[in-house]
Amino acid sequence: MPQPLKLFGTPEQKKKYLPLFAKGAISAFALTEPEVGSDPAKMVTTATPVGNGDYYLLNGQKLWCTNGNIADVLVVMAKTPPAIVKGREKTQITAFIVEKNMPGFEVAHRCNFMGLKGIQNGLLKFHDVKVPKENIIWGLGQGLKLALITLNTGRLTVPAACTAMAKKSLLIARDWSNRRVQWGAPVGHHEAVTSKISLMTATTFAMDSVTWLSSAMVDQGKVDVRLEAAMAKLFCTEAAWRIADDTVQIRGGRGYETADSLRGRGEEPIPVERFMRDTRINLIIEGTSEIMHLFIAREAMDPHLRRILPVLSGKTPAGERLKKAAEALAHYAAWYPRQWVSLDRWRNHAGVSPVVRKHVRFIEQTSHRLARSLFHAMAAHQQGLEKRQQILFRFVNIGTDLFAMAAACSRAAFLLSRSPSDRGPEELADLFCREAALRIDREFKSQRRNDDKMIYRIGRNMLDGKYRWLETGIVK
Ligand SMILES: Cc1cc2nc3c(=O)[nH]c(=O)nc-3n(C[C@H](O)[C@H](O)[C@H](O)COP(=O)(O)OP(=O)(O)OC[C@H]3O[C@@H](n4cnc5c(N)ncnc54)[C@H](O)[C@@H]3O)c2cc1C
Repeated sequence: MPQPLKLFGTPEQKKKYLPLFAKGAISAFALTEPEVGSDPAKMVTTATPVGNGDYYLLNGQKLWCTNGNIADVLVVMAKTPPAIVKGREKTQITAFIVEKNMPGFEVAHRCNFMGLKGIQNGLLKFHDVKVPKENIIWGLGQGLKLALITLNTGRLTVPAACTAMAKKSLLIARDWSNRRVQWGAPVGHHEAVTSKISLMTATTFAMDSVTWLSSAMVDQGKVDVRLEAAMAKLFCTEAAWRIADDTVQIRGGRGYETADSLRGRGEEPIPVERFMRDTRINLIIEGTSEIMHLFIAREAMDPHLRRILPVLSGKTPAGERLKKAAEALAHYAAWYPRQWVSLDRWRNHAGVSPVVRKHVRFIEQTSHRLARSLFHAMAAHQQGLEKRQQILFRFVNIGTDLFAMAAACSRAAFLLSRSPSDRGPEELADLFCREAALRIDREFKSQRRNDDKMIYRIGRNMLDGKYRWLETGIVK
């Protein structure tokens, strides 16, 4: 079911296409192009109106389109002629419904990847594909907004899949670590392995909690989940990658061996190596980890920027600037002191265990500390902060860990209320929160003391070829 059609299709479009999907037709979503990935606004695929705008001619290429090779119906993003807004040209991206048998549509290549070997994914070409204007979804120029809205909730399928992989990894790690005996003991009893398993378990509990919480928010239908969905995607994909890595390590040589090879020599075909290959893509699709960081940072800074930018901008007329400055001052005079006050002691904690309470208090206090620190950084760097990704990414890491802690505590409290004698969820939330608090502490410390400038300088030197000598001495 193509979500853009479900969310924004006209009644006619739904009447025509939805029954096809009910019968098993396959759909695809084509946004990425060979030259345009994370920055889709720069796409070059065009849709040119012909015949008084009754039809559009689609020309261009779409890359890595999942299901594109076998899709009956595709939602394709293309540039339509720019609109003139206040005398200036504004790029318009529009979503079109394209049917596979429209002349000029071609599946040029089936892509092969490190993992996801079963995926049908390809390079698609459009040469003068004639699409009726009735196939535009949500109107001209709405394509990018549509893609972003669709991705906001669509993104949540990724944490769900990552959590499932983590759970399966736990099962495999537990079974193997109990069975495999080395140096006179099951490998799971050697402290290095035990501690890996312990952290994998606590992290999986947090992933599960984050996935349930953000999905429940979507189901409520009333909450804007942009931030939570992005954090869930970022947190769960990065955690899944570490868990896959640890599971390979725990399985030793067998972790690196393919399931087919294991089966071929009579062992159980446990596909840990495949987990690792398959899960790697999750840090790239539906918005890369870097883009998630930027998106979350932008969402956090936006309320401040909206207040501060008109004051700083030379384009704002003097009178208006004074008014905006007074408004900002009044706002921050109330907002800033609040970031120093904890409301925890006035909250109703009835039924919440002391362990969970302790972490909830930390989450509240640290959220305030994060808000203050971000505000201070914005005051220090002003608009330049948007480009200081090393600083911003630390803030985002702290915020994401706080969100995961909140989800884990909330789920532990809920599970405890249902089954008070089982302290398992509380234990796992406790461990996850303790470890997250240590990470948060490190991130705050490195906001004050870091090698950001040197790291950036050496990175740029490297790009300029200054360390080419280091790339020699390898077998060609
Ligand atoms: C298996 C698979 C399935 C896919 N399915 C689909 C699909 O169905 N439909 C579809 O339209 N697309 C699909 N894609 C494409 C996918 O969404 C893109 O690969 C992804 O958006 C990243 O784009 P890119 O690969 O061009 O990387 P680029 O955008 O070129 O980025 C390269 C690197 O630079 C980083 N980077 C880029 N910009 C910034 C910045 N401003 N700041 C910091 N870092 C930055 C990125 O994070 C990344 O690490 C799929 C891809 C794969 C591999």
